[in-house]
Amino acid sequence: MPTNGNSCQIHSNGAEVSPLEAVELYRFFHSGDDETAALRGVSLRLRAGEFVTLMGPSGSGKSTLLACLAGLDEPDGGHVEVMGLRMSRRSEAARAALRARHIGILMQSGNLFEHLTVEANMRLQMSLSGQSDQRTIDHLLEVMGLTRQRRAYPSQLSGGEAARAGLAVALSSNPQVLLADEPTAEVDAVTEASILNHLMERCRAGGAVLIATHSMAFTSHADRLLHIRDGRITHA
Ligand code: ADP
Repeated sequence: MPTNGNSCQIHSNGAEVSPLEAVELYRFFHSGDDETAALRGVSLRLRAGEFVTLMGPSGSGKSTLLACLAGLDEPDGGHVEVMGLRMSRRSEAARAALRARHIGILMQSGNLFEHLTVEANMRLQMSLSGQSDQRTIDHLLEVMGLTRQRRAYPSQLSGGEAARAGLAVALSSNPQVLLADEPTAEVDAVTEASILNHLMERCRAGGAVLIATHSMAFTSHADRLLHIRDGRITHA
């Protein structure tokens, strides 16, 4: 669980530091003469302990937004702050260090090293933030319904198992902020409930969660629903 010790930091001006804040994000992609505006001025702020879901049709900008929030991609305009520290327009090394310390991220693909087992992927992620704890690994594998797959390589997992393994990796460093893109596709209701319970427990302990999902189970338990369309948050 995130420790409450740093879940509610206070600025010197007395304001509460947000675990994650995005200000006026813009992101454009170019292909020949074509320009796609994937993000058009997205601003959002997560509070410590908040469970927020992000919904929008395919192509609306969800993955681009999550990548920019995690510092995996750089916005063309605007900026992201993590725990009050600027993420955007810093060196790749600085962004990676901030991410390792504060953010767990599950993208649609590329979450696992192919040459490592599920458990070894988790162990590696933990070590990046200076941690090592077998009990956390065992617990997360159980939550994700992946205990039997702990020694499997990514190529041996189904799509749904790979997503849940990626989520286990994202959570293994006990991050203050979890960002996840459709973590529960192809999952049975019991495992989905187990994952939801775990995430809500993290929020009760002060963690912040932002999940792109259409799962009714998740949206019905969210503190807030964000909708994105054509690169804009349409209602929050
Ligand atoms: P979503 O996750 O909601 O499906 P995306 O963030 O993947 O949406 O995409 C938003 C828009 O940006 C889409 O029109 C998509 O085609 C475009 N896009 C995303 N990534 C790239 C890229 N690397 N190159 C070109 N266009 C991209």
